[in-house]
Amino acid sequence: MNGRLGVPTLLGIPFDGESSYLRGAGDAPPKIRAAMACDAANSWTELGVDLGAAGAFDDAGDLEIVETRTVAGENPHFSQNQGEMGHPTEKIFAAIEDRVGSLIDAGRRPVSLGGDHSITFPIVKAVAKRHAGLTIFHFDAHPDLYDEFEGNRLSHACPFARIMEAGLAKRLVQVGIRTATRHQREQAARFGVEMIEMRSLPAYGKLKADEPVYVSFDMDVLDPAFAPGVSHREPGGMSVREAIAHLHAIHGEIVGADLVEYNPVQDVAGMTATVAAKILKEILGKMIAG
Ligand code: MN
Ligand code: MN
Repeated sequence: MNGRLGVPTLLGIPFDGESSYLRGAGDAPPKIRAAMACDAANSWTELGVDLGAAGAFDDAGDLEIVETRTVAGENPHFSQNQGEMGHPTEKIFAAIEDRVGSLIDAGRRPVSLGGDHSITFPIVKAVAKRHAGLTIFHFDAHPDLYDEFEGNRLSHACPFARIMEAGLAKRLVQVGIRTATRHQREQAARFGVEMIEMRSLPAYGKLKADEPVYVSFDMDVLDPAFAPGVSHREPGGMSVREAIAHLHAIHGEIVGADLVEYNPVQDVAGMTATVAAKILKEILGKMIAG
């Protein structure tokens, strides 16, 4: 079971201050937990792991995010583009990196619940410091490779540009992309990103790594018919089954993961919370079963 890799440990990161279009993803962590605990389903994953067994996984609760939310709809982060120095998000990112780092130092494998996708940059900073030669398997409709988005380099549209330019990953493999712009294709070429577009799936054989693996799962990789509860609905995406099949196909030791961009504000009758919980279960089961 978990062995030397450590117990997968949930960490809620209720931060959506770098969302470029809609806020709301910051309210996701408790809703995903509630959906996972719902009596409508049992605690077994498809790979035969009982997440209800003692010590199967742990929960470190939510990181406390101190930010000033002003009036509804006004985003203090992306409305004040002050550059990276003095950007109000910097402090929050430092707290995320610190908390994820201490989880790993305590022998845990962090499984973060977002939040918007900007959080993956500080999370991967912490993971990469402790696991050299990381391969990242990134599930998303979007490459999130913008050098800057509306003048903001910390936006949820940019985390993988920051990760690659900082040399935090040996390989970045993106799965399910269907919104790449010319700029983002240039960025992918510049960083040697292995971009597997939605139109080229399935790609089971391409999810193999000899080095430690980090999984970043943006809920909008799923077709909005399956997961309407996201900020950026992008049609033509994965079914839940295709996503699970690709997660199951991962070959390598998963040292950490995140599940981001579930936005309860956009959800319909909690359907997407149920889907997020199912994806989370299968990620945890995969981490445990290996
Ligand atoms: Mn994303
Ligand atoms: Mn996305």
